Amino acid sequence: MSKQNNPLRDPKKLSAATQMVHGGGKRSQFHETSEALFLNSGYAYPSSEHAELLFQGKVPGGHNYSRFANPNYDMFQDRMALIEGAEAARCFATGMSAVTNAVMSQVRTGDHIVASQALFGGCRYVVEDFAPRFGVASTLVDGRDPGNFAKAMQPNTRLVFIETPTNPTLELVDIRAVAEIAHAHGAKLIVDNVFATALYQKPLELGADIVTYSATKHIDGQGRVMGGIVLGSKEIIEGDLHTFLRHTGATLSPFNAWVLTKGLETFALRVEQMTNSAAKIADALSSHPKVNRVIYPHHPDHPQYELAKKQMKRGSTLLALDVKGGQDGAFALADSLAVILISNNLGDAKSLITHPRTTTHQRLTEEVRLETGVTPGLLRLSVGLEEADDLIADLMFGLDQV
Ligand SMILES: *Cc1c(COP(=O)(O)O)cnc(C)c1O
Repeated sequence: MSKQNNPLRDPKKLSAATQMVHGGGKRSQFHETSEALFLNSGYAYPSSEHAELLFQGKVPGGHNYSRFANPNYDMFQDRMALIEGAEAARCFATGMSAVTNAVMSQVRTGDHIVASQALFGGCRYVVEDFAPRFGVASTLVDGRDPGNFAKAMQPNTRLVFIETPTNPTLELVDIRAVAEIAHAHGAKLIVDNVFATALYQKPLELGADIVTYSATKHIDGQGRVMGGIVLGSKEIIEGDLHTFLRHTGATLSPFNAWVLTKGLETFALRVEQMTNSAAKIADALSSHPKVNRVIYPHHPDHPQYELAKKQMKRGSTLLALDVKGGQDGAFALADSLAVILISNNLGDAKSLITHPRTTTHQRLTEEVRLETGVTPGLLRLSVGLEEADDLIADLMFGLDQV
């Protein structure tokens, strides 16, 4: 009897939930069950020749400095790459450092970026304000219509950057259509996949070249650490992106990489449960007289419901609702909740509600806010792991106060 012939030895043959428990795991000489923590900055080599070969990149799996190489990064990156169906990955200190490295490693002065305008605040800053300071122009478009990307493309467009569903209004961008437009112009497509998660949307299969995550969100999922990760082909990840990370150093701590690796073990369980509750809450609120509209990708009221069904396996863990009474109504609801917390984070075990107009989207002008659907009565809800009926009762009490 031998397991040599067992086809399940190939991790690619396993389902996502199993990959998230075992994928990328490495054991030390102590044969520990749980992944070990390698909390070290440097490595001692058996010989000068070994060091020489290591620095020539000729020691497979070798580590020379934790600014860019550590067994805990390997485990986290390999596990994520397996789930994503990517050839390679690099982890970063935060989601924003992941996005900044993904974008800036791919462009040079004189290049041009096209992005959807409904982006997470930091991502919008990188594309709209930061890149142009280094001579990389950008054009922001309404991402709901792929034709807008086609119109914005220029001969020097190197990158297209999108987020779908978007924060906070859960608008969708058609990944496959935008990938085709980008490639027809010789540009690469980056998808920030935080809201849909690796479980429900596969940007690489839909034609994207690079996928980014804030691991702070569902991957940790328990409100403990920050982190980010970028995934794609070996050529991109081990080329420009690795060089950029290696020399600019927005490195994840090995401890946080370990926390995130362990977070992935419960990822499928948590995200599925949170999604079950989010769908139930969207249904419960959609016909409430104090609610103007509920926005949830897999709810039939969503204006892009067909696309949501096509490119997302499930609706994921976030919903948005526009309540009667504008900002006063939104504040009255949020301030009367007993279980759901007021917080701008998301993907957490704890349900979190935020009023984007006065917090995450405060920096934008009212005109831009309204263009992207951030109305005074809009609240974004990140559904956690509490019992769905408790969350619905909490929201119903809140709505009575509106
Ligand atoms: C949170 C978030 C980021 C930034 O990640 P941090 O870990 O907070 O730096 C980027 N994009 C999206 C969609 C996010 O939700």
